Amino acid sequence: MEKRISGTTGLLGLIGTPVGHSKSPVMYNYSFQKLGLDYAYLAFDIPVEKVPDAIEAIKTFNMRGSNVTMPCKGEVTKYMDELSPAARIIGAVNTIVNDNGKLTGHITDGIGFVRNLKENGVEIKGKKVTIMGAGGAATAIQVQCALDGAKEISIFNVKDDFYVKAEKTVENIKKEVPECIVNLYDLEDDQRLKVEVASSDILINGTLVGMHPHEDKTNIKDTTIFRKDLVVADVVYNPKKTKFLTDAETAGCETIGGLGMLLWQGAEAFKLYTGLEMPVEEVKELYFK
Ligand code: NAD
Repeated sequence: MEKRISGTTGLLGLIGTPVGHSKSPVMYNYSFQKLGLDYAYLAFDIPVEKVPDAIEAIKTFNMRGSNVTMPCKGEVTKYMDELSPAARIIGAVNTIVNDNGKLTGHITDGIGFVRNLKENGVEIKGKKVTIMGAGGAATAIQVQCALDGAKEISIFNVKDDFYVKAEKTVENIKKEVPECIVNLYDLEDDQRLKVEVASSDILINGTLVGMHPHEDKTNIKDTTIFRKDLVVADVVYNPKKTKFLTDAETAGCETIGGLGMLLWQGAEAFKLYTGLEMPVEEVKELYFK
């Protein structure tokens, strides 16, 4: 490290709280070193009230950029000079790029999800997707799938506060990507879920169901919903293989876990900061096994 940090080293960071568990510092610092880039990356514990100060600091220190995690992803949008199409539609930012004082906000979660599908040989264009969930991860995926040419998206959520958020997402997609058919249903409606999945190419769990410490939980009660030609993906990455994925795999489906989305959303941000591809294979081997 003492050989790497000098008087010219540029700074990048992560803001939000908590940040202590984040894989971002090791992932980015390893990649900067590997590619010989004169940057360093640190995590800053920032509550939402401190967002204006953090944005000022990004400008004052002429940081190249910053990742943003909860609870700051929505708040930072107010301070951006420009937003990517997905960030504008969703109203959230996870990557800020600073071009000499001009801040552009991006959201790479959905891009990372779609890229991870592609890396697994699955294209989104022209496909019908059924996705359970309407929180941060699910909304990013829904908007990106629409922007990337999905033919149809069926969203299922329980009737909690996120259901209202999903209604807004449906409205936004209809307005911004009118060629994409998008519908919202109650996740309690098992019959409707069965019908929608039967005509879908891809089924995604975008809820937190199945996440540690509730590894025994899944939204799918009737496993006959899984069929061999259905691609089944999860956003949950702890555990790496959820009950949802295990059940789908048992039924012969191709399954894709949440860790790849996490890796690729970071790789997409890396590309926005540096213009270069992150050494994904090595990062995966070292930090995402
Ligand atoms: P969130 O709090 O924004 O959304 C939670 C979602 O889960 C909502 O749709 C909510 O309605 C649903 N939900 C909660 N309890 C439920 C229940 N009992 N039954 C059915 N649905 C229920 O959360 P988030 O930030 O979107 O995160 C969701 C999951 O995705 C977490 O496990 C998180 O770790 C993971 N995640 C993964 C990535 C990645 O890169 N792979 C990125 C972000 C989040």
